[in-house]
Amino acid sequence: MTHPRWLECTACGKTFPIGPMLSGCDCGGPLEVRYDPAAADQSLVRSWLSARDESLWQYAPLLPLTDPAHAITMGEGQTALHPCEALKRKYGHDGIFLKNETINPTWSHKDRYHTVAMSMARAFGFSRAVTASTGNHGISAAAYAARAGMACVVFFAAETSPAMWHLAGLYGAQAVVTSFDGRTPLVKDVAGRPGWYPATGFGFRGPADPFGIEGYKTIAFELIRQMGGAPDAVLVPVGGGNLLYGIWKGFREAKEVGLAPRTPRMVACHAAGANILERALALGGDDVPPLPDAFSIATSTREKTAGRYALRALRESGGRAVSVEEDEIMAAVRMLGEEGVCAETASALSVACAGRLLREGVIAPDERMACIITSSGVKWPELLPEVSRPPVRMAPGDTRRLEALLARFT
Ligand SMILES: [Zn+2]
Repeated sequence: MTHPRWLECTACGKTFPIGPMLSGCDCGGPLEVRYDPAAADQSLVRSWLSARDESLWQYAPLLPLTDPAHAITMGEGQTALHPCEALKRKYGHDGIFLKNETINPTWSHKDRYHTVAMSMARAFGFSRAVTASTGNHGISAAAYAARAGMACVVFFAAETSPAMWHLAGLYGAQAVVTSFDGRTPLVKDVAGRPGWYPATGFGFRGPADPFGIEGYKTIAFELIRQMGGAPDAVLVPVGGGNLLYGIWKGFREAKEVGLAPRTPRMVACHAAGANILERALALGGDDVPPLPDAFSIATSTREKTAGRYALRALRESGGRAVSVEEDEIMAAVRMLGEEGVCAETASALSVACAGRLLREGVIAPDERMACIITSSGVKWPELLPEVSRPPVRMAPGDTRRLEALLARFT
């Protein structure tokens, strides 16, 4: 009988049994989890896709943990999908939807990652985890390590909001602040020591977790369920490309097991100053050459490197990469605020890029697109005064001035 799950090298195809294979393949390629579609029991998967369970673990036949009863979970996933009213008003297109990941337990898509990564870490017997972060990844790792009863160290980039450091501390993790580029050697050092689980992104050059992106896949499953089939395109804010690849893997597997007959185009959404996949696509090769520098107010996606697997996902899906300027990002944050969504700058990239595609007229009127809103802006309190409208006023001291204030609303 074929084993239902195994690890497979994304570069050379060599296979390994599921285990703490944290150094990747001998060839240097990252490993990913593969599933036997028949063993995933299609009827079971179908019934669970229509179920309204409390977490993404309802998709356990396509997740790496053998027994979901042992999952470290806080009800992550099952996030809302609703039409983007602002883009509808501005461009008259009613097929743009927001997938609101800000309503996860630590207010970002990263909770999908760590519910799987920390569940696997604990199942393998680890009691300590380490990671690097620009914010969201670190506080999510801290929260799920806390739920798992594991110690956690997070190396934060100095550009990260101090709110992130203190949130990690609230969850009992040790926050360590260093330079943006100083994080990687420190994580490699700690993760190379016995007993430390590397809760780092898929494809990290060093000890890396191959399991967390399996959680990202469930965004694809939810979109299929919520939209009655795969959308025409999915717009994803991209730093290293793990989320984009994870969602693509989900659509690919959903097609393999017969849950959706087609897959969407994947669209990588960049800030112009950190447009790594856009540049790699323009170069036309299989490599993703590192950027000499990366800058943007969208700190969470300000990476100089991205995985070849993400570039491959763009090509395999027939997708593309789009980049927008800083003022377009801030405008998208304000626009989302006006319809009740508090997105961080990097998360607004998907909507800013959707606006650009609508302006360029490359979206057909009948196409349906999902914009992933990855994380909440509440974790960046320093930026809130810049996007808050109208300006805050002190209470007027007399009735006449109160009348003057209220007159604006009549
Ligand atoms: Zn290999």
